[in-house]
Amino acid sequence: MQNFYFDDDNGRKSFELPGARPHYNPDRPGQVEHIFLDLALDLPTQSYCGSCTTRITPVCNGIETLMLDAVNLHIDSVQVNNLNQAFDYDDERLSVHLSQPTQAHQSIELRIEYHVEQPQRGLYFIAPTPDYPHKPVQVWTQGEDEDSRYWFPCFDYPGQLATSEIRLRVPKPYVAISNGELIATHDEGDAKIYHWLQKQVHPTYLMAIAVGDFAELRDDWQGIPVTYYVEKGREADARRTMGKTPEMLEFFSQTFGYAYPFPKYAQVCVEDFIFGGMENTSTTLLTDRCLLDERAALDNRAAEALVAHELAHQWFGDLVVIKHWSHAWIKEGMATYSEVLWTDHQYGAEEAAYYRLNETRNYLSEDASRYRRPIVTHIYREAIELYDRHLYEKGACVYHMIRAVLGDELFFKAIHTFVQDNAHKTVETVDLLRAIDKATGRNLQFLFDQFVFRGGHPDYKVAYSWDSDSNLAKITVTQTQVKDSKNGSSSSNSGLFDLKIPIGFGKHENGDLHTNQIRSSSSSLQCFTVRIHEREQTFYFPLTEKPTFISFDVGNHTLKTVVLEYPIAELKAQLQHDPDPISRIYAAEALAKKGGLEAVKTLSAALKEDPFWGVRAEVAKQLAAVKLDQALDGLLAGLSDPHPKVRRSVVEALSGLKTAASYAALKPIAEQGDASYYVEAAAITGLCAVASIQLDNPSQEEEVLTLVRSILQTRSGWNETVRSGAISGLSKLKTSEAALNLILEYTVSGTPQALRLAAIRALGAISTGQNNVNLERILVRLEELSRESLFLTQVSVVTALGQMETSKAIGILQALADQTPDGRVRRLAEEAVQRVQKRIGKDQAVKKLQDELEQLKKDNQELKSRLETLEAKSK
Ligand SMILES: [Zn+2]
Repeated sequence: MQNFYFDDDNGRKSFELPGARPHYNPDRPGQVEHIFLDLALDLPTQSYCGSCTTRITPVCNGIETLMLDAVNLHIDSVQVNNLNQAFDYDDERLSVHLSQPTQAHQSIELRIEYHVEQPQRGLYFIAPTPDYPHKPVQVWTQGEDEDSRYWFPCFDYPGQLATSEIRLRVPKPYVAISNGELIATHDEGDAKIYHWLQKQVHPTYLMAIAVGDFAELRDDWQGIPVTYYVEKGREADARRTMGKTPEMLEFFSQTFGYAYPFPKYAQVCVEDFIFGGMENTSTTLLTDRCLLDERAALDNRAAEALVAHELAHQWFGDLVVIKHWSHAWIKEGMATYSEVLWTDHQYGAEEAAYYRLNETRNYLSEDASRYRRPIVTHIYREAIELYDRHLYEKGACVYHMIRAVLGDELFFKAIHTFVQDNAHKTVETVDLLRAIDKATGRNLQFLFDQFVFRGGHPDYKVAYSWDSDSNLAKITVTQTQVKDSKNGSSSSNSGLFDLKIPIGFGKHENGDLHTNQIRSSSSSLQCFTVRIHEREQTFYFPLTEKPTFISFDVGNHTLKTVVLEYPIAELKAQLQHDPDPISRIYAAEALAKKGGLEAVKTLSAALKEDPFWGVRAEVAKQLAAVKLDQALDGLLAGLSDPHPKVRRSVVEALSGLKTAASYAALKPIAEQGDASYYVEAAAITGLCAVASIQLDNPSQEEEVLTLVRSILQTRSGWNETVRSGAISGLSKLKTSEAALNLILEYTVSGTPQALRLAAIRALGAISTGQNNVNLERILVRLEELSRESLFLTQVSVVTALGQMETSKAIGILQALADQTPDGRVRRLAEEAVQRVQKRIGKDQAVKKLQDELEQLKKDNQELKSRLETLEAKSK
């Protein structure tokens, strides 16, 4: 599954919300062998009826009652081996009282007839509405994690694997797609029956259907059909977005040491999907928002990553199934790491390293701002809460660290062993450890103990100095996540990590630090691996001559944060010559912290000259962080960078500078556009952000409002990226009533969904500068919107309310948390309540002091910039 990405900025809290408790799989009355759903869909009334037949082999004699998960279904009858059975049903659990107690190993066939009208979960009917007359008619399901019980009665937990069969009656011309192979179709008047059979065992959460009037595109991998289903008219976008699937099937079959195990691979792009993608066995569903047009394909790599992620799940998740949600990192971590593996294969090592850095940052941001938890825990309120950045991105980093410890050859040997030994079975985390041991002889319990079974990661501070008398490099490493050294060195309970870290000393041969021609070829690294396990350790390395730069954690394989405290010359040299792009990025961050003209010069040069776009994009951010006016020229040069992601980063950096010069630089991009949707959107947002600060020039606000109005009228397009950028810009004009009115206009039903969601979110940001009358208007609107049932709308409403500074937002959030059927919305709403409470709890005087401090910082920057210029002139 690919989840949504949330923006959160609260202080770190406990992962376990009130009501969290341990969760275990239930006792198993028997082995489920086969599930057969025979359903007829009625699209106009949004209802369906039919039967669910489950063949079970009891474990032991004398079981008198079978308990199934079944939520909000209408149960019409229950039979066992064609005899009616008594049953109780409380809308959540179906208890079947067997007229004949079970006999061990004697299979029984449990047939439940049922019907459902206008389901709210599990199975979703999509249809045109008066406001959205062009919405397609579709039906799709979403089982993970515990929602299959909303569309059929079942033993709904991943520990039970069975074969499955789905027979669906749909009106013509709709097509029905499901797991496995299509074994029969036939016409019945104006309806058509599709009969799908999945011969490989899988859990209930991976059973799925998708129905629509789709265009079908066909590909092939080694004789296995590869199909893409999209709304008619989007065929070219489908090819553009999913066309690499056969190549990926080959790549993952090789990587995991196991040929793709199912009889077909279908990807269906559906409307209003509540996740990014879902890896139902052999039938992945994707949000139709991932479909790229030609211009979006320029700098959107996320869609390709999504396709790779869901495909990798066919092995990690579907072939090898997790026994319990608490071990979901086994599949989500690997699917997320597979995005890195695919990036490496397709685009090279630097792109993969940078992709992994950004995954790491996603985890670090959640860890810093939301909560810290062990990756494996069975204490939660709802399983869906586990689907966070710890599970996905930290899980991916753990797989990468396993690879770094074992080396490539042994890592992939271990992965092959794990997949081969556990194919068509369920696994827990210990099974991965066992497979590693079996394939390589290595015991990685120490790594799992530190990164999987407990929360956190090391925060390293690294200092360096050179002793020229004895040719010694002195490196002091501090684990700053531990506040004092009283706890000694026992890492298990003190928060210290015990890891081996390679440290490299680089020598750049021509020694001229101002030219920057050939990078890696002319740099050589001398490496030492040290064990870092205490809070503070100092190492001395005898070298033949002074190194040009120092590379801590060569390869950057360890999940960590790092602060480099090297002299400026070594940081400059590292930014110019370290062959590892991630090390160059760390050097750029450290240089920016040092500040001063020298840093600006070096960063400006790197923005021009670094061969890798990822470093250039990061350097642009750091240039803005130096907070010197002299950074502007360097950034302006970056606007003509050939890589759109560098241009976007430069535009965002200029937006942060908030000067007349940055306004002048952003204006033509906002007016005339850019080849990239994202650059164009960022320029419009940034222009508004700059205008909002230029209080001495009130006409600027009028100027941007006029521009934004015209953009909103003329630049609709792919996923409404550009117009959403304009809406986001309006939210920066916090005191403007005209901006608020414009945002409110786009929250009305009938506005294209992506744009409407952006407008709803923008209400939060703009609320903090509005007068009481307008604040009330915002609250009234958000309260109305909170009653809409669509998941995406609810998330946007919560995001907006969570940014507000009024206790009235709390009431709406609490009502939404109480009423929503979605566990993710519930959790987000509760966290938003805490955030708003914290914000309004702050003393007003403190807020005033903060404002004054901000002004002082700004004045200080101006003075510093002038001083630097004077000093430069006097040299
Ligand atoms: Zn996933």
